[in-house]
Amino acid sequence: MREILIIGNGISGMMCAIRCAEHGLHVRLVAPGPSEQSQSVMAAGGINAVTEDHEDGDAIDCHVEDTLKGGAYIAGRNSVYGLCSHAEEIIQYLEKIGTVFTINEKGRPAFRAFGGQSHKRTYYCGSSTGKQIVSALTMECRRFEGQGLITRVQRQHFYSALIEDGICYGAILYDEKSRTLIPVYADALVMATGGQNCLYGKTTGSGRCDGYAVGKLFMQGAVLKNLEFIQYHPTTLETPQKRMLVSEAVRGEGGRLFYFDGEKKVYFMEDKFGPRGNLMTRDVISREIISTGKDVFLDISFMDKKLIDSKIPEVRDLCEKYRGIDISKMPIPVAPSVHFFMGGLAVHKDHESSFKNLYGIGECASMYHGANRLGGNSLLAACYSGMVAADSIYGKNLSEKHPDFTGFISTEQKNLKKRLNSYSSFAAMHIRDMLADTMREHMSIVRSEESLKQGIEDVSYLLSVVDRINYDPSVSAYANYSLKGILTLGKAALTCAQARKESRGAHYRTDYPQSQKEYETATLISYENGNYKVSLDMEHVYEN
Ligand SMILES: Cc1cc2nc3c(=O)[nH]c(=O)nc-3n(C[C@H](O)[C@H](O)[C@H](O)COP(=O)(O)OP(=O)(O)OC[C@H]3O[C@@H](n4cnc5c(N)ncnc54)[C@H](O)[C@@H]3O)c2cc1C
Repeated sequence: MREILIIGNGISGMMCAIRCAEHGLHVRLVAPGPSEQSQSVMAAGGINAVTEDHEDGDAIDCHVEDTLKGGAYIAGRNSVYGLCSHAEEIIQYLEKIGTVFTINEKGRPAFRAFGGQSHKRTYYCGSSTGKQIVSALTMECRRFEGQGLITRVQRQHFYSALIEDGICYGAILYDEKSRTLIPVYADALVMATGGQNCLYGKTTGSGRCDGYAVGKLFMQGAVLKNLEFIQYHPTTLETPQKRMLVSEAVRGEGGRLFYFDGEKKVYFMEDKFGPRGNLMTRDVISREIISTGKDVFLDISFMDKKLIDSKIPEVRDLCEKYRGIDISKMPIPVAPSVHFFMGGLAVHKDHESSFKNLYGIGECASMYHGANRLGGNSLLAACYSGMVAADSIYGKNLSEKHPDFTGFISTEQKNLKKRLNSYSSFAAMHIRDMLADTMREHMSIVRSEESLKQGIEDVSYLLSVVDRINYDPSVSAYANYSLKGILTLGKAALTCAQARKESRGAHYRTDYPQSQKEYETATLISYENGNYKVSLDMEHVYEN
């Protein structure tokens, strides 16, 4: 039986595993923890689809156009069409396997407004959409596990890929229990490792999605794409541990942004953009908030308390629990924070990467969101990309005999041993913190040549010392060995941002404030012997 190795058990990884199992392929689904701890469970607001119940005037073409426009016209056009035209089928499938969507008075799944969309088309499960989808997919994975088609493995991490002559033959995994490396050969390797949160430290997302896997693959020769596009969510709440997301659902339900000018409330988004100002795309709102130079608030207190309880209970709870704010009486203090990474592994339409038999799906791959993602499109993309990759794998003749990797495996083992046997009290986390400080300072919502150059210099310095430092071995080995991959990814992101000499979507440069036609391209970056090579590419926009 053909063996498929999937790294990451969030929504995209599980969706791919289930579809592979439906095709009769055997899947090994690997992650550090259970699916219930993947970032996917945090998704609150909803998932986009145009279904037969659509709002008057809405159509698949409108969803496609909104997605391309929101992404500033550099998303893979054919793929976006595929995404939007399969959305109804995905909602039906999720319902069939047990996802409990909120229903309207007619007993049909309800949908709400989300930012940057011409129509209401975001389906939701209260404010725990991700949790509901993860539960349903987990049950389905268990069912296939019972049939011997899926094996779920936990407490293992991706270490490196087994690649030779442009073909991938599986991966080396780090096993937490034995603290050793385990080679796993597979007919296809699917990366579903989520976003790159550790580049910025405190984000709305999960620290488990740190970007190491993508950084390591880059060092092994995989091409990455559009790393400069990093989405700041405009409405997040400061807490001691992290920035908590105040879902776009609040604005979808009528929430209004304002700041105080003395006693007077200034509804700056509505003043500038009209009645739909609070639902502009996230990049626009984040920049507007920053440019006010004021403390900004989100007000939903005028909403009926019963509606708050039924439509946005998790937002109500998080404001109460972390900041003691009763949102039915008080406005919520909000500020933009890093939320989503539009860039990642460069993949073709079928989600195969620049290496044969190596696939990238979900947030770790770059395909559907161009320069800025629309809320509700990421859960859809996670589901859809998992299906597309599984169908492509199934349709292929994957019987390559793997070459001898003994030498490579033993070198990787020696490298790890060296790291685990060094003695020092220096915490690897200090380096991660320094990287996050640099990224926040030099590659923020607004960038310039000067800031990016400084960022590259800072990260280059960290890279020059990272292998010479002994780290505290009592802390997680993963935190220690993952440093170089994460730093390399950070430098690649800064390099992409420096190469794009224009402003587009989430990438705004004070020295090049306008969009330029010549940059209606994807940014591709590759790595060879420590050198970073950037190219602007049309194919990933027009052919994909
Ligand atoms: C607070 C919040 C709210 C959101 N709300 C919405 C929403 O309403 N609608 C929407 O469309 N999108 C939303 N998103 C975005 C969306 O949730 C994610 O983009 C999507 O769930 C990503 O799914 P995924 O399968 O790609 O990755 P994830 O669910 O992030 O899963 C990644 C998996 O990879 C594993 N992993 C990571 N690194 C390694 C490694 N080195 N080795 C082994 N395993 C590894 C992780 O442990 C995890 O299992 C939200 C995001 C956040 C943070």
